[in-house]
Amino acid sequence: MNTRFSYAGSPARIVFGDGSRDSVRDWIMKSGATRALVLSTPHQKPDAEALAHDIGDLACGVFAGAVMHTPVEVTEAAMKVVAETRADCVVSLGGGSTTGLGKAIAYRSDLLQIVVPTTYAGSEVTSILGQTEGGRKTTVKDAKILPEVVIYDPLLTHGLPVAMSVTSGLNAMAHAVEGLYAQDRNPISSLMAVEGLRAFARSLPEIVKAPGNAQARSDALYGAWLCGTVLGAVGMALHHKICHTLGGSFDTPHAETHAIMLPHTASFNAKAAANELAPVAEIFGGSVGGGLWDFAKSIGAPLSLRDLGLTEADLDKAAGIAVENPYWNPRPIDRGSIRQLLQNAWEGRRPAE
Ligand code: NAD
Repeated sequence: MNTRFSYAGSPARIVFGDGSRDSVRDWIMKSGATRALVLSTPHQKPDAEALAHDIGDLACGVFAGAVMHTPVEVTEAAMKVVAETRADCVVSLGGGSTTGLGKAIAYRSDLLQIVVPTTYAGSEVTSILGQTEGGRKTTVKDAKILPEVVIYDPLLTHGLPVAMSVTSGLNAMAHAVEGLYAQDRNPISSLMAVEGLRAFARSLPEIVKAPGNAQARSDALYGAWLCGTVLGAVGMALHHKICHTLGGSFDTPHAETHAIMLPHTASFNAKAAANELAPVAEIFGGSVGGGLWDFAKSIGAPLSLRDLGLTEADLDKAAGIAVENPYWNPRPIDRGSIRQLLQNAWEGRRPAE
């Protein structure tokens, strides 16, 4: 086999296991920080306050203002608190929105970041920051953005509502599926992608049955780490482009949009990337898009863009935006086929491939 690739391992420290939240204080100390500002959304403020309490004299405050899409105004308000409290480290407790705020602070200040993820979004292991200003979303990639320490404690995910667990899990799986056919894929990213998909394939149905199943919660968070690492390591294609278009232009919810689109984008690329996607077909019962759709349906995922409030006129606009800036995809893209793909996802049809 004549394989060629380039590979760079992530420098981040990953700590995984039930109860590992209790090691946050130790990791602040080991990292040489002394003043940690704990971040969260308003919804998770009580958890952030409890964590700050447990961090004790190494905590300098809580900022519970994180919201979706990392608006610059929120980051600026948080930067004031960073200055007032003389924080030398942020501890982001939550999902992608809270991690986004921690990244935005680190991008501006190079403060140490410790992330304690409570969803499967995967942002904690990427050096990508998406932020919004005046309703416009921009994305930056910088080494300063990558969190230094990630503490995965499955116990913190037991309360993640089932519907969010399902959509967040499919969101993570989309990173792995696109990672498998990425132009810059490498043997390690592909191993991680397949292992991540297997972890979700076995855990999500169990979580739907029993949200407090400790083994399944652990497997799913393990899958989230793997799939997120793939997102951070290689380039994404059609699926992520369409989801960013829908989220950016029509404000569709992040995880749900990924969950609905994944079977359709995977099916679109199924023939062009048949070898790379063979493990997906194997894990999900023989076909790529159809198999992912059956899996999503079986765990109660949303299946139709129509249910997110999109109209058919929105699909015309979205197809136009999605093909405006050409980007790499295993199968060439044209407006007609993207419009059809969106139509299928809008109607919630099972993909053929
Ligand atoms: P989120 O962080 O917005 O969380 C949604 C809600 O669920 C919030 O109110 C949150 O407080 C709550 N929540 C989180 N964990 C919980 C738990 N265990 N129990 C109960 N409630 C909980 O949602 P998300 O899907 O994790 O993140 C989406 C955001 O992350 C988007 O803005 C997306 O663009 C971004 N993202 C960025 C990257 C990247 O690499 N830059 C990757 C993935 C996602």
